[in-house]
Amino acid sequence: MQRAVLVTGGGGFIGSHLCQSLLDDNYVVFCVDNFITGDKNNLKNLLNNPQFVLLEHDIMRPIQQNQNLDYIFHLASPASPNKKSPRSYINYPIETLLANSVGTYHLLELSLKYGAKFLFASSSEIYGDPAISPQKEDYFGNVNPNGIRSCYDEGKRFGEAITFSYIRKYNLDARVIRIFNTYGPLMRADDGRVVSNFINQAINSKPITVYGKGTQTRSLCFVDDMVLGIKLAMFSPNTKAEVFNLGNPDERTILNIAKLIKNMTKSSSEIVFEDLPIDDPKGRKPDISKAKRILGWEPKITTIDGLKKTINYFKSL
Ligand code: UDP
Repeated sequence: MQRAVLVTGGGGFIGSHLCQSLLDDNYVVFCVDNFITGDKNNLKNLLNNPQFVLLEHDIMRPIQQNQNLDYIFHLASPASPNKKSPRSYINYPIETLLANSVGTYHLLELSLKYGAKFLFASSSEIYGDPAISPQKEDYFGNVNPNGIRSCYDEGKRFGEAITFSYIRKYNLDARVIRIFNTYGPLMRADDGRVVSNFINQAINSKPITVYGKGTQTRSLCFVDDMVLGIKLAMFSPNTKAEVFNLGNPDERTILNIAKLIKNMTKSSSEIVFEDLPIDDPKGRKPDISKAKRILGWEPKITTIDGLKKTINYFKSL
């Protein structure tokens, strides 16, 4: 019998790639999104698939689901920290907190109801401005509990806490992944994230806006690698009650990323420096040894190859 999967945030950037990949694997996919930051256009190739069901729904309320579910992937949440973007979680702070708290509660209850395996998509943001590098899963982080990013950071931390409470109290088969910076086709051009901003600025001959001095670092993971990691965290044996960092350890400074994208696009744009946002983490680099050991996963797509694909995507729009 075909297995049924529910993906919240299925209209988002990573969520829509995950839905596509699960359909390719022959799952029946229920996609839940309220489209405050997701985009129906991401789903235009999926909507005709008879195994794909779109539920336009806000997870603030329980999902009325009468068909059996085998797996629940909970990705729904605004995710961009850039307050200049209309879709930033900074502009949806309450929705962000509730999607990760009340929303996670409803989805955990749904998992219990159907005996479905559960995956909570947490974030490298739970490490805050990390005092150690690379970050390992057992690092507790360095988070401002009431700063401008706290709606996301603390929302994700709550989501992890309630997921583990259901594991301990109800023996639920659940796991947590921590997604590090991810990029690729279907990112929104106005998302405000570093890769989408720099590529769109470069190909439109606009100034490339480096915040601060550009000495802060990030490690960029191409979305196809990320989707594979997410599926392995759900479907591999021995993942119950585990936390996995998923990301590409290829750490670069933001200035290096700006120069790389400028060169790759042969852009005439100048690189300009703007104020560093409050609480912007100084660095991020995942330690992925646990994902390698238990999931046999590591990113395969180099930053250069992934950026090429993403540049081609934005040029094609
Ligand atoms: N950034 C930048 N210019 C931009 C957008 C982002 O310099 O136009 C910087 C941002 O300050 C941060 C890094 O790039 O240090 C990554 O930002 P992003 O919003 O992609 O995600 P974050 O890792 O902060 O969640």
